[in-house]
Amino acid sequence: MARYTDPVCRLCRREGVKLFLKGERCYTDKCAIERRNYPPGQHGQGRRRKVSEYAVQLREKQRLRRMYGLLENQFRRYFEMAENSKDITGEALLAFLERRLDNMVYRLGMATSRSEARQLIRHRHFAVNGQRVDIPSYLVRPGDEITVRESSRTKEVFKRAVEISQRRGVPEWLELDGAAFSGKVKRLPLRSELTMPINERLVVELYSK
Ligand code: SF4
Repeated sequence: MARYTDPVCRLCRREGVKLFLKGERCYTDKCAIERRNYPPGQHGQGRRRKVSEYAVQLREKQRLRRMYGLLENQFRRYFEMAENSKDITGEALLAFLERRLDNMVYRLGMATSRSEARQLIRHRHFAVNGQRVDIPSYLVRPGDEITVRESSRTKEVFKRAVEISQRRGVPEWLELDGAAFSGKVKRLPLRSELTMPINERLVVELYSK
């Protein structure tokens, strides 16, 4: 499967926001955005040109897509699903992205980034409601229980991730039982609880042209 392989901090610098793609480093002063908050490349520090409405919408879409680590066609599919739902399209799009298993594993603190969560899921370390799931895009539902499989619990990566999550905190809509390597989806997040700096209406406007 195709994936982005260049340095990920460049993506944050391009978008001008922290996308939290690099695990614990993102929470330290080694974060590239903290040190060089301007776009990468030789013209990165040059004079800012006036940007068109289209460019603003495009950047917002790229920001959201990169935050969740998706390729364009995957992201577009979520948009189409959101458009076909009976909810407000932008909010439904965010809900679909949040329901991905790799995102839930990251939010629960069982991985330090969404990309690490994806890798751990593909390596079959997780079960949902007792059934092994190795598909990062699996959509969880309220009430689902996500567990690290018994045979994987001794792995250093999980011990470290649970320690980090205790510092980072688990969102209100999830419940973590660190000792049992298990997390529950109590409900889906409200829009007001998703605090990342995203205006999803711009994404809807872009795709509705
Ligand atoms: Fe982005 Fe994390 Fe790199 Fe900072 S350390 S620029 S938040 S990926």
